[in-house]
Amino acid sequence: MVKIVWDAGHGGSNSTPGKRTPDGEYEWTFNDKVVRAGMLFLRNYENIDQLRVDDATGKTDVPLNVRTNRANAYNADIYISVHHNALQGEYGPHSGTETFVMTPASENPESLRLANAIHPKLVQAMGLKNRGVKAENFHVLRETNMPAILTEGGFMDSSVDIVKMRDDAVLKQAGEAIAKGIAEYFGLRLMQQEQQEDMVEKAIVINSIYDYPWAEILSIRLKAPIYPKKVLKEKRTKELIIVGGTSVGLEAAKITLLSGKDRFETAAKVQRFLKQ
Ligand SMILES: [Zn+2]
Repeated sequence: MVKIVWDAGHGGSNSTPGKRTPDGEYEWTFNDKVVRAGMLFLRNYENIDQLRVDDATGKTDVPLNVRTNRANAYNADIYISVHHNALQGEYGPHSGTETFVMTPASENPESLRLANAIHPKLVQAMGLKNRGVKAENFHVLRETNMPAILTEGGFMDSSVDIVKMRDDAVLKQAGEAIAKGIAEYFGLRLMQQEQQEDMVEKAIVINSIYDYPWAEILSIRLKAPIYPKKVLKEKRTKELIIVGGTSVGLEAAKITLLSGKDRFETAAKVQRFLKQ
């Protein structure tokens, strides 16, 4: 089993301020889309296990030492940290994609081999200038006990790069490019077709039986099956609508969380969703 750790840098708009575009978009929101696409794509391969060490809801900015401790405790085989760059906080012509390994690179040959498998694919996916593979002393590269890389897909304050970063199709390609690089690095095998057909397109998830009546209404309306959360953790899904509880432990390209502090508030959210 190959164990992969993903880390979308920083946190979302409700957490401590991370880097932002000059228009105020949070870096995490770009990193998150890349990580989701990468994790989803990797599920097409055999024998992989994945862990995400940032807060996938974007509500908190998980401290770096917590992220790297989790990766070390999980005994990960590789660590992938996804970021987007900033130079001066106002739009300029600077541009490009770069990938970092712990410095000096010569002492981290496996990280370098991983970076070299991923970086050219990421450059192609972003369609931006190739700034190369570089070495730096970053916490997540230094404190991880496994090969680790940190990608900077583009500059949030570049008038060129921001256009790509606001295009979800580009960020999806970037995630898939990283996943393909990982597959190449480990020599992963694609799953057989029958296994891939196991993929669920859209599903409704319930955490508690109390939410079942509302899930059932959604199920009829959206023509999608209902799964208990436990079952869905084992399945590969493109889109999830979660009724009650949290999205912790679930991965999909698109997640809609319809959840309140009690089942009445959850019901109200479902009703509002149905009216859309
Ligand atoms: Zn960052």
